[in-house]
Amino acid sequence: MTTPVTWDLSDLYVGVEDPKLIADLDRLDARAARFAEAYRGKVGQLSPPDFAAALVEYEAIQRDVQNPGAFAQLVFAADSLDPAHGALVQLVQEREVAIGRQLLFFSLEIVELPDDHFARLLEDPTVAEYRHYLEHLRSERPHRLTEPEERILLEKSITGRSAFQRLFDETIGAATFKMELHGATQEMNLSEILDKQHDADRAVRAASAAALTAGLEERSRIFSYITNTLAHDKAVDDRLTRFSHPEASRHLSDEVDTDTVHTMLDACVDHFGTVARYYHLKREMLGLDRLYHYDRYAPLFPEESVTPWEEARDIVVDAYTRFSPTVGDLARRFFDQRWIDAEVRAGKRGGAFCMGIAPDWHPYVLMNYLGKQRDVLTLAHELGHGIHDLLATGQHFLEYHPSLAAAETASVFGEMLTFDALLARDLPARDRLSLLTEQIEGIFATVFRQTAMYRFEQCVHTARREEGELPIDRINALWQESIQAMFGDSVVMGEGHRVWWMYVPHFIHTPFYVYAYAFGQLLVIALYARYQREGQEFVPRYLDILRAGGSKRPADLMAGAGIDISQRAFWEDGLRVVDSMVTRAEEAWREVEAIA
Ligand SMILES: [Zn+2]
Repeated sequence: MTTPVTWDLSDLYVGVEDPKLIADLDRLDARAARFAEAYRGKVGQLSPPDFAAALVEYEAIQRDVQNPGAFAQLVFAADSLDPAHGALVQLVQEREVAIGRQLLFFSLEIVELPDDHFARLLEDPTVAEYRHYLEHLRSERPHRLTEPEERILLEKSITGRSAFQRLFDETIGAATFKMELHGATQEMNLSEILDKQHDADRAVRAASAAALTAGLEERSRIFSYITNTLAHDKAVDDRLTRFSHPEASRHLSDEVDTDTVHTMLDACVDHFGTVARYYHLKREMLGLDRLYHYDRYAPLFPEESVTPWEEARDIVVDAYTRFSPTVGDLARRFFDQRWIDAEVRAGKRGGAFCMGIAPDWHPYVLMNYLGKQRDVLTLAHELGHGIHDLLATGQHFLEYHPSLAAAETASVFGEMLTFDALLARDLPARDRLSLLTEQIEGIFATVFRQTAMYRFEQCVHTARREEGELPIDRINALWQESIQAMFGDSVVMGEGHRVWWMYVPHFIHTPFYVYAYAFGQLLVIALYARYQREGQEFVPRYLDILRAGGSKRPADLMAGAGIDISQRAFWEDGLRVVDSMVTRAEEAWREVEAIA
């Protein structure tokens, strides 16, 4: 295989020693100091045009500080072995924090503005351009307490909520799990033991599952105490800050309506049958009598074909071009202008990401290309992010990055386009099946598993509010029921699985966040279903969604394209696509069986 490309960062800075980098930071620091001097404590007294000028300067400082930060992170991701790169990240971070600290007052004072005063500011045409950003900033306002109260809550949270979160991190981080197999004992940390769930040998999967259960059970008192305490802490916070239900603060900060989220989740729950169908198929493919919880991640077929880098580039760019020549041209720029680093080498960060910097700069993509079909899809995914960023350059910086729910729109959409292109190739049935099963399991992990986890959180928070401190076994039972509901009769959730809620960090750090994975992914699959139905007519509406960047709430963004996400039918569209993927996997399996 020919070596994949490396990127060229010299348009940002010529190297880690480039004196311009420090000069840029010095200049921005001085600008931030001047800004604070001019406006601190005075935001409420500014006339609309003066406020507009302040806002534009505030944005410009934040935008310009992106380049040094991006450069430091990119060189470090490309080669972390060079100590100069780590040192640069540290230095730039400290400088950025110092600059950010000087600007912090501005957003706080905007939140404090009385409503009628804020309404007058919006009459200024420049200020009006920032309406979405400002309104989102101020959406927390009805839930704010007086300043001394806020200060007490913040200070006490260090020995309250944050302390319990840290206790969780330290407990799970230090935990070791002893796997016993064939008379030998192996001690592993959490990620190592979880990785064994993907082992081809069933005995390893069963032994590692038992070890995970035993290790969690040993610490179950502490995990259930942390969970109970944080659930109660949240109930108290929600009461004091006037949030009506446990999920409300999450949804407010993500700019989504609780009703819409729940419509989407209900649709997912009603399609749990799709999950059961797939795991019945998986049991058959693995040749097992019964599928236990430790068989869920068993690998199916080793992939046979390797896709050379140039071919991957052509597949992805062609898939984007067939969708829209404009989009295809944007994808091509990443290769032509060396905005992408795909080579695998020592010291380089694993995985993949796309870094969108600011509307006046282009994004960069990093990945590790090994020639698997998954890698081709990853290339399409990260380029999708990059295309999204390039299309959103018409937005100003404060509304440039898409909101949480829309952040994966272009990436997952591009992945779907490429997925269909890969499937359309003349592949051996086994490779087609491996492509399908990998994609299906990925979607399940994002859409259905997160839905089940969200329902578990709802149960725990509601039960804690109604029943008081929850016994360990009560939480275990809620978890077991939530996950079993998703699998139906296709997987036996053994007794050991009852405690597996204990290691999930999201429940501790960002309650109810898990819905966002399901929401974001299903939103895009549903958009893709629209495209399949409407064809080219859909393209300009879709491009408008991307061009809007982060300038609208998710519901408004979609409404602009004629889509009502509060309607169940929209989400059903996406779920039908998932269902049809399972059907295609069933068909491919019949073919494989017929050949064998
Ligand atoms: Zn992504």
